[in-house]
Amino acid sequence: TSLNANVLKLTEPAKDLLPDVDVFIFDCDGVIWRGDSVIEGIPETLEKLRALGKKMYFVTNNSTKSRKGYKKKFDSLGLDVPAEEIFSSSFAAAAYLEQTNFKESGKKVYVVGEIGIQEELDLIGVPHFGGPEDGGKQPDMGPGGALPHDSDVGAVIVGFDRNINYYKIQYAQLCINENPGCEFIATNTDAVTHLTDAQEWAGNGSMVGAIKGCTGQEPTVVGKPSPLMIDYLCSKLGLDKGRICMVGDRLDTDILFGTDNGLKSLLVLSGVTTEEKLLSQENTITPDYYADSIVDFFVDENA
Ligand code: PLP
Ligand code: CA
Repeated sequence: TSLNANVLKLTEPAKDLLPDVDVFIFDCDGVIWRGDSVIEGIPETLEKLRALGKKMYFVTNNSTKSRKGYKKKFDSLGLDVPAEEIFSSSFAAAAYLEQTNFKESGKKVYVVGEIGIQEELDLIGVPHFGGPEDGGKQPDMGPGGALPHDSDVGAVIVGFDRNINYYKIQYAQLCINENPGCEFIATNTDAVTHLTDAQEWAGNGSMVGAIKGCTGQEPTVVGKPSPLMIDYLCSKLGLDKGRICMVGDRLDTDILFGTDNGLKSLLVLSGVTTEEKLLSQENTITPDYYADSIVDFFVDENA
């Protein structure tokens, strides 16, 4: 179709990109998989890139799983990816606490979120509570009712939480508003997410928005587009930003993460962004390149 011809034409310069890139950072949902299905041709494409000597890292804003949880997901999809190459926003939240020496404060974390955040906090030995355990609770709102809270909570982490409720919101509010110096950390602020193919679902932006609304505080965001993960990768692994290409399907997280941080960027249309949206006048975030999917992009020129 003419649309496809147009896409191929516009990605033509991308062939010149490979020699200039040592490292690919891949967003996960919409690039590698959609929900629980691997995108067709991805295993072969990753193998091809590895054979070319390219390094790759996988960065997802979805905080519901830990790095270990994602390793299992990659395995189940037939993708042979070491855990060290996977960076989830749950891991980023723990990495941020490590970077700021939170453990030495002797304080605890209150979690609005799911098991991924809890598993990452366990790995760094930071005490925490909340999460799924508070899923069925309601505060006492009868006459004289008050919700007691722990004055030793030094940080509230807010991640995607399918069991968020009024108890958790009030608990987070009390910690952030009443504990001096308590940090408000958001794993990510994605507005909507494709939990199913049928429609868009409220993303972690809605959970973070609830806590912003009652505290008036702005969170420290650790997921994309925050520079935290790229700084972590570059400092721990000695990567050169100028030779990294960020590949993602979302303009306001992935592509912004690339353009804000001095990386090359490639938008793929295999996820949430349509070509119409990318090229529309309202869009102000422009990737260096775009393609239907990375499978098309890294097409075998001899095939
Ligand atoms: N947050 C949630 C809850 C999700 O389900 C998803 C995608 O499935 C995302 C964030 C975005 O993930 P990614 O950064 O891999 O696109
Ligand atoms: Ca994505």
